[in-house]
Amino acid sequence: MQTRIMQTNEESLALAKEIIEAGGLVAFPTETVYGLGANALNEDACRKIFVVKGRPNDNPLIVHVHRDYDISSLVTAIPEYAWRLRKAYLPGPLTMVFKSLGTVCPAVSCGLDTVAIRVPSNPKAQEFLRYVDLPVAAPSANISKHVSPTSAEHVLADFNGLIPLILDGGECTGGIESTVLDCTGPVPVVLRSGLVTREMVAAVAGDCRVHIPVAGEKVRSPGMKYSHYSPRCRTALYTEENISAAVARYDAECAKGAAVSFICLDETAQKLGSRRCLNIGRTAEEGARNLYRMLREGEKELDMIIGIAPAGRDGVMAGLMNRFEKACGGVYEES
Ligand code: AMP
Ligand code: MG
Repeated sequence: MQTRIMQTNEESLALAKEIIEAGGLVAFPTETVYGLGANALNEDACRKIFVVKGRPNDNPLIVHVHRDYDISSLVTAIPEYAWRLRKAYLPGPLTMVFKSLGTVCPAVSCGLDTVAIRVPSNPKAQEFLRYVDLPVAAPSANISKHVSPTSAEHVLADFNGLIPLILDGGECTGGIESTVLDCTGPVPVVLRSGLVTREMVAAVAGDCRVHIPVAGEKVRSPGMKYSHYSPRCRTALYTEENISAAVARYDAECAKGAAVSFICLDETAQKLGSRRCLNIGRTAEEGARNLYRMLREGEKELDMIIGIAPAGRDGVMAGLMNRFEKACGGVYEES
């Protein structure tokens, strides 16, 4: 199969609609990362997503709709706070999980009685969703466990020859996946942190909790249990407080002849002397925008990437921390 990259225009949108209606896959830009979309009402089409990505079949898909789509045809029991969140933050990088009406095909929810809904704000994503006028199930457009794609070229690198069309919308401005919020209970619960922060949700909904997975408990967001976002080279992870151990590790790896780089925020980068560093920027927002692109650039020429995770845990930093931990193996080195 030949994979075409096309700018979003009348011709490519018509082609995208034709492919989606015929049960095929189309990659499209959003404000977070690129998505790999299929008709959420077509079981065979949604199954293709799992096959092409190599995605575990218990990891449900997010359903994307345009801003005027009537989600009451997909979900039941929308709590009052969810309407307020919708008004405040949608379209935008917030996914809300509701009880499913059973309209979307079983492959989307993977056996859960819930469905995750997202209304992306990227104008090209909106154009695509409006043109197709179907609910589009779409995980991130990367091979499972690889770093999520923030450009059409990243999608091509993972899926060349495997999907027919990539709609090119340039670089994603957000850079990390949407916040996933469980809206099935009286208080919303963050299942995956992102650019719509716990604090932002609490300000509108009155309260917001963060789900911390407990061993042995029923998994609420299956995707979060898998390792993710990993570059194709060795990784190690250190805390900001343990920076001297990170430097010792870097120096030891260099002495063995390995091509090594740190990845961290600018403030940390200033403490690393002339050592090689993928500097993701000054703020959590900049870091989120740059992290995946820099991991993908780094993996092409490096043997090892050493992450030094930022110290903060609030706001957007919570989401950035989570992606750092997933990308660099999840376990902090002590020395
Ligand atoms: P991805 O699009 O690859 O980032 O994956 C989608 C994320 O949304 C995963 O972490 C899923 O576990 C989560 N998700 C999708 N549907 C649901 C659902 N019904 N309930 C809880 N989490 C969900
Ligand atoms: Mg993903």
